[in-house]
Amino acid sequence: MPWSTLGWSPSEEQLTQLQRLQEELRLWNGRLNLTRLVEGEDYWIGQVFDSLWPVVPWLQAPAAATAPLSVIDVGTGGGFPGLAIAIALPGARLTLVDSVGRKLEAVRAMATTLGLADRVDLRCERAEKTGRARGCRGRFQLAVARAVAAAPVVAEYLVPLLAPDGTALLYRGQWTIADGDALQRAAATLQVRVEPPRALDLPGGRGRRHVIALNPLGPCPAAYPRPVGVPAKHPLGDNPT
Ligand code: SAM
Repeated sequence: MPWSTLGWSPSEEQLTQLQRLQEELRLWNGRLNLTRLVEGEDYWIGQVFDSLWPVVPWLQAPAAATAPLSVIDVGTGGGFPGLAIAIALPGARLTLVDSVGRKLEAVRAMATTLGLADRVDLRCERAEKTGRARGCRGRFQLAVARAVAAAPVVAEYLVPLLAPDGTALLYRGQWTIADGDALQRAAATLQVRVEPPRALDLPGGRGRRHVIALNPLGPCPAAYPRPVGVPAKHPLGDNPT
């Protein structure tokens, strides 16, 4: 694993946890088909590296600064990027959200086996509900989502969860000017600034990735997120037809 390319490397304990997570994924994948990225570089680069590179600035911050960090992973599926972040940021509290109960039960079991249960909370619900839940809305320093929906939809899921000094990270594959324009329109509605995209070529020729950070300019308007299903059906910033 090319840790030097990542700019962060795990302690022995963290490396053991990441290996253990791979074993757990194998186990659960046999039952549930959680992910196809389980073996070799599929796991180490496609899951671990891909989950961690967007959060390297937080991994590099002094421990005292990261200690109180509260992080939410929306649409965590089989636990990524959330579980990798929980291992890499031992001072952080993680909330992992997904609407599919059997996936979350597997993630819960994996978190317990890895010794993370006391700082990993799981919520089996739609993100549109999480964004309105007391204890979640406006609470998180970091809100992340990988491979969940189009960027304006993900923005509507994540922004209501942000603390005033929080950051949403949208994990994306390809990123075009048109994608940026659509996100910009959604961001104006949600009262966030869109930071310039960061790009990286995954090691091993595994493709280009982008991450787009959103930072609040003011409180998220109370109307967002809209009711379950509406953000995906009518993404913010879409031209009405
Ligand atoms: N983030 C994981 C990853 O990168 O491997 C899983 C990606 S999977 C393609 C998308 C996940 O998002 C699914 O598990 C799905 O249930 C979840 N999801 C999609 N929309 C959601 C919503 N509105 N609320 C909660 N979960 C959602």
